Amino acid sequence: SLLWQARFFTTVNHLRDLPKTQIPEIAFAGRSNAGKSSAINTLTNQKRLCFASKTPGRTQHINYFSIGGAHVGQHRNDEARPEEIRAMLVDLPGYGYAEVSGAAKQHWNILLGNYVQKRDQLVALVLIMDSRRPFTDLDVQMLEWFADSGRPVLCLLTKADKLNRSEATAALRKAEAFLEQYHDDEGPLFPYHVQLFSSLKRTGVEEADEAIRQLLGL
Ligand code: GDP
Repeated sequence: SLLWQARFFTTVNHLRDLPKTQIPEIAFAGRSNAGKSSAINTLTNQKRLCFASKTPGRTQHINYFSIGGAHVGQHRNDEARPEEIRAMLVDLPGYGYAEVSGAAKQHWNILLGNYVQKRDQLVALVLIMDSRRPFTDLDVQMLEWFADSGRPVLCLLTKADKLNRSEATAALRKAEAFLEQYHDDEGPLFPYHVQLFSSLKRTGVEEADEAIRQLLGL
């Protein structure tokens, strides 16, 4: 997959530092511990491209990974010329840490809220949720901030290996039923797709890969 070409590009702490490229990007959002880092590593076929920060104070970064433009065999592509990059994968800070202070939550709100609502280059959102407890309040907040613009959302229900077959089917149906509330008479308010996913058992990896490449036009 082209996603396997992903290389670290940059880390951003403030909206003003977002890359001034016009390259299409897809963002990965999720509660801390939902399996976001594992999903990104699985999809990019890399062991440590992305690592979860277990320190709440260090979770407020947006990490950019570039697709294309990397020199074969090179681990980082800081040297890659932006015009050669075809797409960006954007790892948003995990949310929902219980220990986080009010000020840090406020920073999260401003950073993520502004990013998903205003970033023109952002073509789609990948919402990473534990298949056993999807659509927590903060997930719904992210979804509604983003999908208000009508842009597509891919929901990955992670750790599907922890569910048996009937539980997995029920989780999928329930998620689809949840998303159906975002319809009016004309149809869905934004395009969405739900996929059961397991980094451990590699469930749904090909489907997610295909969906992401399609959203990015790769
Ligand atoms: P993040 O905080 O969302 O980046 O989550 P991580 O990717 O670091 O995963 C959080 C925890 O869930 C870790 O202990 C992972 O080993 C575990 N985990 C992640 N993906 C899977 C999966 O597909 N199956 C199972 N069983 N555990 C997973």
